[in-house]
Amino acid sequence: MTKREQRIQAIAAEAAEWRRELHRNPGTAFEETFASAFVASKLAEWGIAHETGIAGTGVVATIEGMRNHSGRVVAFRADMDALDLPESSGQPWASQIPGKMHGCGHDGHTVTLLALAQYLQETRNFDGLIRLIFQPAEEIGRGAHRMVAEGLLERFPFDEIYGYHNWPGLPKGTFAIRPGPMLAAVDTFEIHLKGKGGHAAMPHATRDVIPAAAQLVLALQTLVSRETDPMASAVVSVTNLNAGTGATNVIGDLARMTGTVRTFSEPVRSHIEARMKAVVEGVAAACDVDGLFEYTRIIDATINDPESTRYCEAAAAAVAGSAHLREFPPIMGGEDFGGFLQHRPGAFIALGQSETDAASPHNKGLHSPQYDFNDAILPLAANYFAELAERRLAID
Ligand SMILES: [Zn+2]
Ligand SMILES: [Zn+2]
Repeated sequence: MTKREQRIQAIAAEAAEWRRELHRNPGTAFEETFASAFVASKLAEWGIAHETGIAGTGVVATIEGMRNHSGRVVAFRADMDALDLPESSGQPWASQIPGKMHGCGHDGHTVTLLALAQYLQETRNFDGLIRLIFQPAEEIGRGAHRMVAEGLLERFPFDEIYGYHNWPGLPKGTFAIRPGPMLAAVDTFEIHLKGKGGHAAMPHATRDVIPAAAQLVLALQTLVSRETDPMASAVVSVTNLNAGTGATNVIGDLARMTGTVRTFSEPVRSHIEARMKAVVEGVAAACDVDGLFEYTRIIDATINDPESTRYCEAAAAAVAGSAHLREFPPIMGGEDFGGFLQHRPGAFIALGQSETDAASPHNKGLHSPQYDFNDAILPLAANYFAELAERRLAID
């Protein structure tokens, strides 16, 4: 074990206790007051310069290397928010806040960055500046945008940014990454159809929204099957369809449909948005009902910069061994980290956390009420970030 590994191992043993403290006190989007105060108090304890209140509960810390001649700044990011989900992990440190839990392991990500902070502040074995970004509201895809809107890039400039997510689908200690598209852009849509209700036995005297809604569900699928390059990726899912009054003999006035769109590329994203609007208006007109369409961009795709990805692969192989490095198959799930990658190069990596015991809470999927972050990956995660920091800002 290297000196650095030894030190990080010792810090991580304490970080597991911090993690359980955060786990007991989850806060959802922009209400991460416990985590935010906890982070700030640790940073203060170690004499690390930091500012709070960025995007509400966000915290940004800066650590200067023993040399600062390179003029370069490398950022690491952790998310702090929990989910609206009642916990049933059965862990002794389960949530004490009814209806809320750390079901995505952001408690673990937060303390990984704290462990990194403590190590880097003690050693400062790099040339340049390190920024540590503790972001709120990852789960609703609003934290990154708001931090940027509140001047993150101007007030705390950085050249590149890195983050990780614990991954129950991979064995503990295995890293997975890929250059280019890794996680999708996440958008939502809402469609309102308005017709004219009436007696179900006299449909000709009504303007029925239900056939219009049914046609729309199918027509929207053709935007993926007929208009998107088969080698590109897109998902259009209508996830809610509400219409009718509950009576079998009444035709209602209104239908409401909502759902999600997932894409990787900006041209595909804009095309689907524009064409959905045209299809809603066209189908509504054909069915003689009024159609209203709203589209909201929530999360930008996580597109790993190829060069940054190579640095991550090298760092992961150095700390875990190349046998524990895999290619991440892209998935249509989203990550608010993409909001930072819109502005600066960087890369996101997955770190496996599953145990051989399939019933372990660490093997449950993200957002499962039985899930729990695996503290055993803390030293490796912090060591990976430290390796990346010391490589990217190497003292020569
Ligand atoms: Zn999540
Ligand atoms: Zn997450």
